[in-house]
Amino acid sequence: MSVGAVVAKDSHLGRSKGSTAITRPSLMKELAARRVRITVQRRLLVGIIQDSPRHLDAATLLEIAKKQDPDIDRATVYRTIALLKNRGLIDELDLMHIEGEKHYYEAKTNRDHCHMACFRCGAIMEYASSSFEKLKEEMVKQSGFQIRVVRLEVGGFCKRCQKAAS
Ligand SMILES: [Zn+2]
Ligand SMILES: [Zn+2]
Repeated sequence: MSVGAVVAKDSHLGRSKGSTAITRPSLMKELAARRVRITVQRRLLVGIIQDSPRHLDAATLLEIAKKQDPDIDRATVYRTIALLKNRGLIDELDLMHIEGEKHYYEAKTNRDHCHMACFRCGAIMEYASSSFEKLKEEMVKQSGFQIRVVRLEVGGFCKRCQKAAS
């Protein structure tokens, strides 16, 4: 039986890169398959979300996008996030509110994963586990519920911060 694996342990609000455990299907392909018309500005935003090495909040997304297209405004950012969210292509995360009331977005992954947030340094680790998949199966079996979204966030202290504190 395989146990859980930490698939990302990088810097601030980081997320996994090059991991074989978690992959992120192309948002543009998913949108095309759903016949969603995409403007140039939306395409830019979708590309940034897809390629971001971090979990992005709306303000950071706007900031990055503005460097490539100064005409992009907040409304376009929020509309694009809503579009992706409503079609189930991105996940919205609180990340234990380590930076206040912000929400963070990431392209949906092939496998559900949990997030571990360090209260001290703000590191975000992604965690995928077969036990998590089993738990979902069990929930479906016992309740007959149809699961559309699963979110598990864990707050605490990363190894490095534990060492620094002791
Ligand atoms: Zn830490
Ligand atoms: Zn994630």
